[in-house]
Amino acid sequence: MIIDHSYAEKLQDLVSPVGVTPVIQPKLSLVNESLTKLLNFGEFGNDQTRLFNALFEQDGLLNQKAVAQKYGGHQFGSWNPELGDGRGLLLAEVTDKEGAQWDLHLKGAGNTPYSRFGDGRAVLRSTIREYLASEALHYLGIPSSRSVCLISSNELVYREKQEKSAMMIRACQSHIRFGHFEYFYHSKQLEKLAQLFDYTLANHFPQCLDQSNPKLALLEEIVLSTADLIAKWQAFGFCHGVMNTDNMSIHGITFDYGPYAFLDAYVPDYICNHSDHSGRYAFDQQPGVALWNLNALAHAFTPYIEIDDLKETLLKFQPRLTEQYANIMRTKMGLSQEMPDDMVIVNEWLALLHQDKQDYTLSFRRLSDPSYSIVDDFIDRNRAQIWLEKYQQRLGLESISAEQRQQKMLAVNPKYILRNYLAQIAIDRAEEGDFSECERLLAILKSPYTEQAENAEYAKPPPHWGQGMEISCSS
Ligand code: AMP
Ligand code: MG
Repeated sequence: MIIDHSYAEKLQDLVSPVGVTPVIQPKLSLVNESLTKLLNFGEFGNDQTRLFNALFEQDGLLNQKAVAQKYGGHQFGSWNPELGDGRGLLLAEVTDKEGAQWDLHLKGAGNTPYSRFGDGRAVLRSTIREYLASEALHYLGIPSSRSVCLISSNELVYREKQEKSAMMIRACQSHIRFGHFEYFYHSKQLEKLAQLFDYTLANHFPQCLDQSNPKLALLEEIVLSTADLIAKWQAFGFCHGVMNTDNMSIHGITFDYGPYAFLDAYVPDYICNHSDHSGRYAFDQQPGVALWNLNALAHAFTPYIEIDDLKETLLKFQPRLTEQYANIMRTKMGLSQEMPDDMVIVNEWLALLHQDKQDYTLSFRRLSDPSYSIVDDFIDRNRAQIWLEKYQQRLGLESISAEQRQQKMLAVNPKYILRNYLAQIAIDRAEEGDFSECERLLAILKSPYTEQAENAEYAKPPPHWGQGMEISCSS
């Protein structure tokens, strides 16, 4: 395995070296074998004891050169300079088999200078939620940080109640957040801000260095990749729940999972975060919030770039998002050619789903089946019939056969998503030491578009207790 510590070494003034605080009776409970192979942990094969030792031995990965990164963030719209890795550590950077660079980050590692009043730990519940969601989104085709392994422990921590703790290693291009740039800008540490820009450009966006204004090119890449990400969230019905700028990655990936949810019923103003009283991060607010966050990030570029140029770059967000969203929604509806009224048909379909609170994911699967009588799903059959005729007329303009269309639609409309109630069942089992339900979910969610007859139960909408779950922010 090729290990590097470039962030820790090149940006010494932006980090604090911190060792991992050991947990009581650590146990490797989940290992992502395909990812560990890609990351060249491959030498351990399936031998989990050897992998465990490689992590935990005195000169193991966890004990080499871990650092806590400093960042700030706009939390629910208010600037907070006090943030940073309060319970996570950047362990190292590794190069995978294809030459790509990844950060390895240990969450739940113990206290750091940025822990404030926290205990530096993560609860098993939220660690499993992050572990499952990262993989579920990845296999849906939504960019995300990935899960490398989960280490359970018998150490208890206190949140609303006493809970088991855990650690996980996650991997992604880097852990640089919008809040990293914001912090060094707002605290007027312009030399460190310049170091961060130089490092980010050289290590992660070298293509921008060829542009006439590399920093502006960097902002544009972040604006566009964020737009692409949010288009996917909206099209797949994913609700992040805590879009604070410290939870926004500069790589346009889903990052720092908290009280997230996939929509069950189609409720556009759904709020998954129990603490989000104003609905700032409701599902249908995500596009606007992303632009708000990009605007907050753009402030950190003002020492270098004229405001008009920054505004012009930010203005690229909405058209890109609208275009990408429309593209995905057209493919979800089986429309391969672009025609003027396509989004009218899409929006009327969504209005139907909303009116009857139909299951967002399953409705698209049903729509893909020409033998399924979709009108019967709706209380207002007339309205549904009028829409269906319009849709069928539009399909008549397509050049592919009904069978081909069905195949195409099944390939882009998932059958299996990580519904919160499924995650909760897996968590309840894991709390008792049984991770088999986590493993099973991970296996199912690896092929979200494939019919899995033996797992049909996992495609069902939630039972009564699992509907409209609001997830606690405590983690
Ligand atoms: P999060 O809610 O995980 O996005 O974290 C927001 C901020 O609180 C970050 O600066 C975290 O490092 C910090 N934080 C969250 N939980 C803890 C904890 N248990 N101990 C120390 N810091 C924490
Ligand atoms: Mg966070």
